[in-house]
Amino acid sequence: MISIPPMSGRNVAVMGLGRSGEAAASALTHSGAHVLAWDDDEACRQRARAKNMPLTNLMTEDFSCITALVLSPGIPHSLPQPHPVVSRARAANCEIIGETELLARAGTSGVLIGVTGTNGKSTTTALIGHILDQARRTVQIGGNLGVPSVALEEVGPGGYYVLEMSSYQLELISTMVFDIAILLNISPDHMDRHGSLRGYMSAKERVFNGQQLSHTAVIGIDDSCSRKLFESFRAKDGALTIPISGANRATGGVYVEDGWLVNDIECREERVMNMAAAVSLPGIHNAQNAAAAFAATRAAGLAMPQIRDGIHSFPGLPHRQELVAYINDIAFINDSKATNASATARALDCYENIIWIAGGQAKEGGIEGLVPWFERIRHVFLIGEAADTFAKTLEGQVDVTLSGDLETALARAMDMALVEKKTEEKFGTTLVVLFSPACASFDQWRNFETRGDAFRAMVHKRAGIDVHEEVATPSLNQKKASP
Ligand code: ADP
Repeated sequence: MISIPPMSGRNVAVMGLGRSGEAAASALTHSGAHVLAWDDDEACRQRARAKNMPLTNLMTEDFSCITALVLSPGIPHSLPQPHPVVSRARAANCEIIGETELLARAGTSGVLIGVTGTNGKSTTTALIGHILDQARRTVQIGGNLGVPSVALEEVGPGGYYVLEMSSYQLELISTMVFDIAILLNISPDHMDRHGSLRGYMSAKERVFNGQQLSHTAVIGIDDSCSRKLFESFRAKDGALTIPISGANRATGGVYVEDGWLVNDIECREERVMNMAAAVSLPGIHNAQNAAAAFAATRAAGLAMPQIRDGIHSFPGLPHRQELVAYINDIAFINDSKATNASATARALDCYENIIWIAGGQAKEGGIEGLVPWFERIRHVFLIGEAADTFAKTLEGQVDVTLSGDLETALARAMDMALVEKKTEEKFGTTLVVLFSPACASFDQWRNFETRGDAFRAMVHKRAGIDVHEEVATPSLNQKKASP
């Protein structure tokens, strides 16, 4: 556990006792602070009590005697309206920070790598961690992914922290400066909390706060908002600014062109590797993630072959186009993280011969946006609340079966795939059974993880002795530091 000496002997309030709040309270107590912890939810308070965490109702506490309020990123501090505890702290001029800021206050000697963006944060964070690990660097990954920043192990001099940073978390850092900061992409998201696209961009931009000449800023140029930020950063006299792209030439940066990952940071246009060899990183979106990871690890001092080996051997993250098994040469893909149509579009774009399982709790717009990919789909098995609505969109274009639940859908999809495989080779590409719901999970599951875990377990169970090759599923988000 990380120690935060400047907080020793201080009164520090912790509001919100989820995973990150609990981690902050523990690290602060361990550092000799007097912790005043609270959560509005009685169940969270009970859990904290069971762990002997001291509880204080922050709604009645005098904030003039408190050094800092460590706020859970899920609790609004300004929009749509500040939580009353935040207003009390502000009125007393009490500093408001997040748990990631505590890692900065700890004065760690490790290199700090921060990853943000609307999409691809977890994949890129895990990929950078994997590349560094494979190159035998001491590395801890966490933040918004897996272990909270303040609960990570000390990496020591020469070690690395790779932190996934959400926009909410970025709003709660103040002195944290990332040695290498990555902004992958920006599309409108979380408008209720940020007020406008401008507000959301400002939050994301904070990943570059305090950077100077010795630091590196890696910025995607595939969408207009990020490109704008790149242009303005490049014009400044600050950090080394590296553009990255999954689809277009990025002069002076890293990009994928004609399937090849190209390094132009040193203006030599070196071909690094063919992305087809990185089986866990399919699609243009993952090309962007790989380009970002290359730029970051190159800035961290790794040699090109080390990075190439790391990208090549990356096992991928669970639930994101995760190849769970090959059965009779049919690929079974778990894409449970695809909780909306645009995420499912990324997956449909990667395969040409698809039996698709979709449905759950529909998002606005349903699957209207997926029409351009319908010709790749042999059959759709629909589940959950969205089934009837999705069936209407698919009517007359793709054959549909209403299956009710995931187990039934998988059983039918598997039977169909095995028959299709025997009777036809006409499509000439691998037949894929793709579970990419384009829906939230809450109608039938606790979250997308339990839904994806269930899919994987069902495939494995049904596969029985027919499994020719099972693909190991990684748990990189629980990664431990390596020597
Ligand atoms: P995040 O942590 O930002 O939610 P993940 O790495 O978990 O991102 O990926 C979630 C989903 O987002 C993926 O299943 C894929 O559909 C999509 N995605 C991943 N990387 C990108 C990217 N670079 N650009 C756009 N979409 C992406």
